[in-house]
Amino acid sequence: MTKLSRQAHSGTGTWRDGLVVKLMVGKQGVVYRISPWIVLASLLLLGAGARTLASNQNTREQALKTRIAELEEEKRQAHTFLQRKEREKKQALALAQMRSEELWEELRARDQQMDQIWKVVGKHPSSSHSKTRRSLNSSRSRTHPLVLKRRYLELQKALHGDDGELKQLRTAAISYHKEQVRQARLALWNTQPTLWPCEGYFSSPFGYRIHPVLGYARFHSGCDIAASTGTPIYATAAGRITNADYLGGYGLAVTIDHGAGLSTLYGHCSAVCVKNGDYVRKGQLVANVGSTGMSTGPHCHYEVHQNGAQIDPAPFMQHRR
Ligand SMILES: [Zn+2]
Repeated sequence: MTKLSRQAHSGTGTWRDGLVVKLMVGKQGVVYRISPWIVLASLLLLGAGARTLASNQNTREQALKTRIAELEEEKRQAHTFLQRKEREKKQALALAQMRSEELWEELRARDQQMDQIWKVVGKHPSSSHSKTRRSLNSSRSRTHPLVLKRRYLELQKALHGDDGELKQLRTAAISYHKEQVRQARLALWNTQPTLWPCEGYFSSPFGYRIHPVLGYARFHSGCDIAASTGTPIYATAAGRITNADYLGGYGLAVTIDHGAGLSTLYGHCSAVCVKNGDYVRKGQLVANVGSTGMSTGPHCHYEVHQNGAQIDPAPFMQHRR
């Protein structure tokens, strides 16, 4: 154990004696005498050190204050930045919502058009179609950024291609159009005389000729197809029977009204198998070849009338049955 004690002989000695230090090491005592100059120098050094320390402390405090001010400024700037970002985000969200609503309106208008086409085409939109539209229309949390983004993307997808329903509708509309054209063509073909009235050979054309019975030039109002008695005569187009009886020089004759101002006449028949007012299909049996009326031999006298006027039947005789 070490014990340190200090003793100044202020009573007996002068300041010139300096500082006397007595150290006790164990039971032995050691006395040190320190020069007053050294004490003074030490005191001066201590004072200088304290002053330096204080000055350093002051500088550090000043630096800390500056740093705090800097940080405060940084914090203020960060706050302003955040506020601006928040404002921008709100604006972007409002814009996205507006665009989303616009897209929805666009889609709704197009869906209405689609529904009309569906009605015309005679089909119904699939349930998935309306389900998708309902989900897109759901007002539930429509303003949530994630929901808004999803809805926006789906709306865009629905509007710009990649819409199965639209493709289906397009296909349906095309096939509908094709079917309409086909039916119109069929209707036209049905009511347009295109057939030969009977088997046989073309014996006399439409126009002026020497009449075989009367012996002088006379207008021939149709064309003749020579065939043996009893050969079937078919309606050259669908229509309504307007005559199925004797008709002057035509003998036993059949007249069919095909609509659109067109009608056909079949003369010199031996028999008729339709009656006035009947509707006949194209190619349906209506009479048999004969030689009734003003005729020299069995043949079918075939006439085509357009708005009451007799016209050349040859262009209408396109197909034999
Ligand atoms: Zn004739």
